[in-house]
Amino acid sequence: MDVKVFQFNGCNKCYNESLLLKLDPSYKVQFIANPQNWKGEKTQVAVITGYLLPHNKENLERIKANSEKVIAYGNCTSMGGIFALANQHGHEISPLKNLIDNPININGCLGEIEELKTAINGEKPSKLRTLCEVCNRRATCEYLDTVHRQIELVDNETCFNDLGFLCIGFIAKECQERCIDYNTPCRGCKPMVERSGIRMLGMFGTLMGNIEVATEHSEKGATDKLADEEDDVTKSLPDILGNFFRFSLATSGLPKGRIESSGKLLEDVFIGRLIEELPLITGLLGGDKSILLTLKIIEPYEKANQIEISEETKKYREELLKLEKELQKAIEMHDAKQYEKVTNEIRKIAGNMNLSNVFFGGFKSQIKEEDNFDNYKTHIFELVEGTYKNGFVEYSIDSNGIIKEIKIREG
Ligand code: SF4
Ligand code: SF4
Ligand code: SF4
Repeated sequence: MDVKVFQFNGCNKCYNESLLLKLDPSYKVQFIANPQNWKGEKTQVAVITGYLLPHNKENLERIKANSEKVIAYGNCTSMGGIFALANQHGHEISPLKNLIDNPININGCLGEIEELKTAINGEKPSKLRTLCEVCNRRATCEYLDTVHRQIELVDNETCFNDLGFLCIGFIAKECQERCIDYNTPCRGCKPMVERSGIRMLGMFGTLMGNIEVATEHSEKGATDKLADEEDDVTKSLPDILGNFFRFSLATSGLPKGRIESSGKLLEDVFIGRLIEELPLITGLLGGDKSILLTLKIIEPYEKANQIEISEETKKYREELLKLEKELQKAIEMHDAKQYEKVTNEIRKIAGNMNLSNVFFGGFKSQIKEEDNFDNYKTHIFELVEGTYKNGFVEYSIDSNGIIKEIKIREG
């Protein structure tokens, strides 16, 4: 089977993951990193990765005209994904289905390779359970009074939502990455339902029973601010948009926001997000530099606020950085076997390719059985207003831990 994989904008993690197709001899795979220079030739399957803007339409139509089947692989392409949070600042990231007719969508950040193969082969996707059905944490469905933004890692049994810690597993499909296994609540990168953000917001309101969840439009436009400032949920979990609509804003039905843009799309993705969510956001969208980017964002905050970093934490972080260099090399060489080996090594430390196990101060779950977890366990940290910087990134947070400004050195 002849397969061509095209990388459009932003993160290249899904594009890189498609390297694994090379391990199956039934595919003849070609990788096109610059679709705008692609001359156009007939192909059986076109796989599109990365986020899309209106000006990509012409290229996409050319791909469509030359392909028997077009697959949107990963949330950026299928739903707008995490980069579409920038639509709050007036950008126009669009899912592929708004730019060409009838693509096959594979959701996920990152998209799962087995699902991609199923779509390429034209097989029927297996019916998956919800994440809650396969989760080891047990729901008790108690009503709660408060929302916690960080939890102590002492309770490994109770559902995150019952602990007052937002988890979107309720509307998500069973997945391979399983953030919850690394003490990280699900943010719903594989939704099972349409308009998952609104549904999850409603569900959370029900769970929180005695508090008010408002979704009224603001003067500036609906996506600028979903709830009234005095609303209890907004006060305790300020970034409703980044938490409930992290991957689905472009398909949520909410209008484009009108908050002034910083001028850079990537920076607009980060502005308004919560400090404790940054490791998972950079872990998701940082492409083949996710590990470096995540640590570069975490470290200045730790340093400025004297968050203790143990020798074990440093050792594991260094190992991750070394693995990321090996990963880049495997990608450069198009060496699928090595890519698979290195990503498995990264998963052992970071939990998954979303880096769910990496956090401020240490790791969220044990890495090796023989380790003493107390030596590198992360703890709740304080939200301290200020500006944090190193050579790579500079950002300011307010007293609620919300990112107000950010500058990321790209490249
Ligand atoms: S941000 Fe997520 S969906 Fe988008 S390319 Fe990266 S891993 Fe894939
Ligand atoms: S909401 Fe999250 S923590 Fe709770 S049962 Fe579902 S997946 Fe598990
Ligand atoms: S657990 Fe993580 S990888 Fe799985 S659906 Fe949720 S956010 Fe996505």
